[in-house]
Amino acid sequence: MTETKAQQLATRCVHAGELADSHGSPHTPIYATTTFKFANTAALLDVVEGRQAGSLYTRYGLNPTIQALEAKLASLEGAEAAFAFASGMAAEAALFLAHGRQGIVCIGDAYGGTLELIAEQLPLLGIPTHLILGSELDRLDGLLAAGARLVFLETPTNPALELFDIAAIAEQVHAHGALLAVDNTFASPVNQQPLALGADFAVHSATKYLGGHSDLTAGALMASKALLDPIWGWRKNLGSMPAPETCSQLARSLRTLVVRVRQQNATAQAIADAMTRHPRIRRVLYPGLGDFPGHELAARQMSGFGGMLTLEIDADTAGTAAVVDRLKLFSIAASLGGVESLVTQPVTTTHHGLSEDERARRGISGAMVRLSVGLEDAGDLIADLQQALD
Ligand code: PLP
Repeated sequence: MTETKAQQLATRCVHAGELADSHGSPHTPIYATTTFKFANTAALLDVVEGRQAGSLYTRYGLNPTIQALEAKLASLEGAEAAFAFASGMAAEAALFLAHGRQGIVCIGDAYGGTLELIAEQLPLLGIPTHLILGSELDRLDGLLAAGARLVFLETPTNPALELFDIAAIAEQVHAHGALLAVDNTFASPVNQQPLALGADFAVHSATKYLGGHSDLTAGALMASKALLDPIWGWRKNLGSMPAPETCSQLARSLRTLVVRVRQQNATAQAIADAMTRHPRIRRVLYPGLGDFPGHELAARQMSGFGGMLTLEIDADTAGTAAVVDRLKLFSIAASLGGVESLVTQPVTTTHHGLSEDERARRGISGAMVRLSVGLEDAGDLIADLQQALD
């Protein structure tokens, strides 16, 4: 490993965790093996019984390609350690099963799969779960006093880009002896460092900005070793390990994370600025706009405003769909964080399953269009939006 903690994020993205091999490969090779040989039984027992670090079995994560990726992932969030997972949902499921069994509170508009797991599957196991909106934060103390031990939130949220104060919520959660997990998928470690702000876990769908090219599915948890330890057995025995090939592909993407995200920040800001001036746009939701309600908090706890923004078009649901359908450079697709720009109408994708009332409660309207800004030229993307709106 050639990186030190004092180095800047861009340097750590390139160098952290990389294994030097005897052939001089500049980065970690893919160990496409499921198992590893030992010279004798004593050497095997040293690894099995934890006296010696070593490679053993890939589903356990004891494979050099996986461990090199995990060292890089930990470094990106300033964490002591990290676990890689087969998906963001696999990471969340292991986190909830290891640390949330006494009760989970989810604050705000988390990803739909997260909400479904918390509201529908975990209660089947007898786990008490609570979903509260950002406007209901006054309920948090009561739920923690009643025994909830894990608080989960995303900031900024999807699609309204609502901001939560990580440092203030971490203090409140810790006062009750509970833990705070922040899904940092939307912001990425380039724009926000939840652990430095006091959170106990950073959670990622690495499928998004970390992978960055819409070509891999993976997840990650970053935390202290003590907090990751109880998660180890759940990941191992639920079998939620990513393949070494995927880990290598993800490590490759991480080497360019900083340049990608900084460019996406700049392009999103340019689009947000241009769209505030367009007569067919009612509202632009983007933390980088001076008059956005969460702007001050974003400026305090984020180092960049991100590549995600939401437009509210002056049209009904069908009229908004017609604008979306006229876009040429933005593809209609549900994911985010890739090099290609994507567009979704939340009522047709992420919030499709919710009732009208629930959508209204969450401030989701048919006029909303969520953009995931890619690496195309900002002027071309603005021109595409303008032709679709005009
Ligand atoms: N968290 C956020 C913010 C997401 O947007 C998603 C997926 O869209 C997930 C978690 C789940 O990740 P995955 O699809 O990798 O399981």
